[in-house]
Amino acid sequence: MKVAIIKERRAFECRVAASPDTIKRMVGMGLEVVAETGAGEGAQFTDAAFATAGASIATDAATALSDADIVLKVQRPLIGEEAERDELKHLKHGAVLIGLLQPLRYPAQVGAYADAGIAAFAIELLPRITRAQSMDALSSQANLAGYKAVLEAADEFGRAFPMMMTAAGTIKASRVLVMGAGVAGLQAIATARRLGAIVSATDVRAAAKEQVESLGANFITVDEEAARSAETAGGYAREMDEDFQRRQRDKIVEALKRTDVVICTALIPGRKAPVLLTEAMLAELAPGSVVVDLAVESGGNVEGSQLGEIVTTAQGVKIIGYANMPSRIAVDASQLYARNLYNFLILLVDKDGKLKIDTTDEIIKATLLTENGAVVNPALAAPAVVTQAQAAAG
Ligand code: NAD
Repeated sequence: MKVAIIKERRAFECRVAASPDTIKRMVGMGLEVVAETGAGEGAQFTDAAFATAGASIATDAATALSDADIVLKVQRPLIGEEAERDELKHLKHGAVLIGLLQPLRYPAQVGAYADAGIAAFAIELLPRITRAQSMDALSSQANLAGYKAVLEAADEFGRAFPMMMTAAGTIKASRVLVMGAGVAGLQAIATARRLGAIVSATDVRAAAKEQVESLGANFITVDEEAARSAETAGGYAREMDEDFQRRQRDKIVEALKRTDVVICTALIPGRKAPVLLTEAMLAELAPGSVVVDLAVESGGNVEGSQLGEIVTTAQGVKIIGYANMPSRIAVDASQLYARNLYNFLILLVDKDGKLKIDTTDEIIKATLLTENGAVVNPALAAPAVVTQAQAAAG
C-alpha cells in the first residue's frame, strides 16, 4: 500500500503531515511512502532526510497522489473552485484521506470527498478517550500554540516578563491574564510563569480552576454554580448565556486594570468563538499592553483583531491576530502532528499491511466522514451536507 505526503499549499501553513521518524515507522510496517519534493521544507525536513527514512521523492503533487492508497495531510485539500491547483481530483477512487479537514466549518467539501469516492477522516473529531490520546492532534497543536502565543506576546511587549533587581533599579514582573484554560491556555500559563510573569487565568469550566492553580496561577471565577454545568461530556465548553457573558466581562474589567498581557484561547467546538474582550474592555489596558487572539480563525475572542495581523488600538494596545500559531513553530508541530497521524494510521492497517476500516471502532466511527460515495459521519447533520452528486440529482 502506498502512502502519499504532499506539500501544504494553504496560506500560513508551514507544517507537513509526516516526519523522517514517522516515514521510517510506516516503511517498517511494510508501507510504501512517497513524498512530493519539498513537502517537508517548511518544517526543515529535507528531501534527503525523507529519502534516508525510506520515502521515494515525487517530482510533483499529482505524481505523489495519483496511485496513493492513503494520503496524509495537515490542511484539507485544495479543491477546484477555490484554487488553480485541485488536489482532490488527483486522489484515486477508494483512497483514504486523513487530516485536519474542518468538516463542521466546510461541510460542502465533505460532499466533495463523498463524490470523489474517498474515505476521508477528520482527525479533529477524535473522541477524547484514553486510547485516542496519542492521536489527539488538536491537543498536540494547541499545546504548541499556547507556548508560541506567549513568546509572540513577549516579543511585541516593550517590557520584560520577570522581576529583575539590577544596580540601575528594579524591573517589576509583568502580569499576564490567560482567558480560556484548556490545552493551549494551560501551556500559555506554564510558559508565562517560566518567563517570570505573575499569571491569572479564567475559564467557564469548573474543572479548570484546579489545573490553573496547580500551575501556580490565580484563577478568576465568574460563577461557580454555572461553571459546574459548563462542561460537555466530551470535555469541551458549552456556549454560555448572555447573562453569564455580561458578568464575566464585569469581572474581567477589574482584572484588566492590573494586566499587561492577555492571551485569549477560548473556543467552542463547531461554533463561533465567544467575544471575551470588547473594544471598551481593551481601553482598560495601559498603552503598550499586548493581547494575543488565538481564536482569531474561529471569529475571534477580541473585538478588532485581524487575521494574520497586529492591530494597534487608538490607546496603543497591540492585538496579535496571527493565523495558524502552530505553524509558527513548524518543526515541533510537524513532529507531533506526524506522530498523531501515524498512531491513527495503525488502526487502519491490518497485520498483513492491508487497509481495514473497522466502523465498529469508536475512533474510526467518530472521525470517518465519507465512505463509498456517502457522508456517513453522525456529527454532520444529514440535511446540511448534500453531496454535489445528490444536488445534481435534485
Ligand atoms: P478548546 O480548545 O475547545 O477551548 C479552549 C478553552 O476555552 C477551554 O478550556 C474552554 O472551556 C474555554 N472557554 C470556552 N468558552 C469560554 C468563555 N466564554 N470564557 C472563558 N473560557 C472559555 O478546549 P481544549 O483546550 O481542547 O480542551 C478542553 C478540556 O479538554 C481541557 O480540560 C483538556 O484538558 C481536556 N482534554 C482532554 C483530553 C482527553 O483525552 N481526555 C484531551 C485533550 C483535552
